[in-house]
Amino acid sequence: MIATLKKIKRSLSPLYYRLHQLYFSLAGHRVQCNICGYKANHLQSDVWHAHSICPRCESSIRQRLLWACLSEHQKFNHTNLIQNKAVLHFAPEKCFRDFIKDKAAIYHSADFFAEGYHYPNITYNLDISNMQSIADNTYDCLIACDVLEHVNNDQKALSEISRVLKPNGVCILTVPQKDHLEITDEDLSITDPKEREKRFGQSDHLRIYGFDFLNKIQSAGLQCDIVDEQYFGKDYVKKHVIFPEILSNHPMATNYRKFYFGKK
Ligand SMILES: [Zn+2]
Repeated sequence: MIATLKKIKRSLSPLYYRLHQLYFSLAGHRVQCNICGYKANHLQSDVWHAHSICPRCESSIRQRLLWACLSEHQKFNHTNLIQNKAVLHFAPEKCFRDFIKDKAAIYHSADFFAEGYHYPNITYNLDISNMQSIADNTYDCLIACDVLEHVNNDQKALSEISRVLKPNGVCILTVPQKDHLEITDEDLSITDPKEREKRFGQSDHLRIYGFDFLNKIQSAGLQCDIVDEQYFGKDYVKKHVIFPEILSNHPMATNYRKFYFGKK
């Protein structure tokens, strides 16, 4: 029954988006997804942020911000980081995974497989804090967005990231950060999912990061640059919604998303 409903939804969705686009071409389209080109007056809302999710490619603010970097940033664009490079992509984002795969010379995807979940088209079942099967100096680029908050020993994970990167290789990282929090709040003794959700924002998060995430990356021997929406012009930020239109008042929301580019 569910499979049939999904099938019907899939077959109707191109028509739905065409009608939606027709409506907005008549009614005006204030914002546009920079990944898939979807135009609307507002994007969809989720529990964290109003008007932030692209209904077509399901991208969120962080994914469009990374896409802005890869397509517009002078230094951290895909030509420099991805094109003809060896790339290891953790928890690959559906909305631009194929683009990265097509551009890279070698593309490996990875996730740490949890019981009861299905991981289609993932190359490696890999614990990012213990990548024994990967030799030193293997990758030019490693991408792990919103991964480290799930990992017990994140400092070890950062050391492992550094180890598997080639000299001059770059990792692209981002993590949930509580607004204006200086020091990461972590307590590994909390195992109750409800307690974790309350303290860290999600039932499977082990910490909520603060500004000291930068120090953690540097401690792993990586030189780090931070990019946020301020790099891009105000018009670009507004048009592509790479910063919340309305700041979330959820105490655990990441309003000020940052990308960390760590170079070995
Ligand atoms: Zn989109």
